[in-house]
Amino acid sequence: MFLKLTILPMVILSIPITMFKNNSIEFTPALPTEKTEAFSKIAMGPGIKVHLKFNTKFYDDNIIGGKICAAYANELVGKNGSDNVLLAFIMGDQAAYLSSLPNDNAIITELLQELDTMYSGQASASFIAGHVEDWSKHPFIMGAYSYSTINMGNAREVAAKSIDDKLFFAGEAMNLNGHHQTVFGAAETGYREVINILNSVTK
Ligand SMILES: Cc1cc2nc3c(=O)[nH]c(=O)nc-3n(C[C@H](O)[C@H](O)[C@H](O)COP(=O)(O)OP(=O)(O)OC[C@H]3O[C@@H](n4cnc5c(N)ncnc54)[C@H](O)[C@@H]3O)c2cc1C
Repeated sequence: MFLKLTILPMVILSIPITMFKNNSIEFTPALPTEKTEAFSKIAMGPGIKVHLKFNTKFYDDNIIGGKICAAYANELVGKNGSDNVLLAFIMGDQAAYLSSLPNDNAIITELLQELDTMYSGQASASFIAGHVEDWSKHPFIMGAYSYSTINMGNAREVAAKSIDDKLFFAGEAMNLNGHHQTVFGAAETGYREVINILNSVTK
């Protein structure tokens, strides 16, 4: 009695949409044009988080409306601890601007200056340390999360369609339930593509 195993090359690609758009993977044969056109219509913006540690809590728990950072939040809310840490969450144009600055210190300085104008110089006076996380600079991510562009039509459907039951596409940008941009949206696409593979091998 022999068991015959057929190994079919099947791959689920779950890389960020930016990595498809900048051709970071070379496909042989090349991906169909409709696929690369669909990728080009799905956008991904920059995103930065900066943690700022101070020796006094001079700030409010939520600071809304800054020009450099629209939303700062006290990181200690809901957590145990005694450190005074403020989180600056920056997306879109402001993130692109900060990302263009020469280094992390320059980003931190911009934020401290903004906080100084709001709190009469207390930010710089009590600043201890800062940490910058700029997702657009991560070489294998290059952005925060995908967003839809005007007139993109059914680009997400085309982008997410498998090719010849061999290449399957997952990741947040390939979510078709409106849950793109999220962890659970990315997970949903993983389940979806595993089911698609199982369906294709049992055809
Ligand atoms: C600041 C910020 C806050 C967020 N907050 C939330 C939140 O509160 N709730 C929420 O649900 N979501 C949030 N998100 C979004 C969420 O993190 C993403 O939607 C989710 O991580 C996307 O998952 P993914 O698997 O599609 O991609 P990723 O998690 O980016 O995984 C893609 C993987 O592919 C790898 N990769 C890239 N290129 C290659 C290659 N050539 N070969 C092999 N591997 C490669 C990368 O290294 C990476 O590990 C946030 C995102 C950011 C940036």
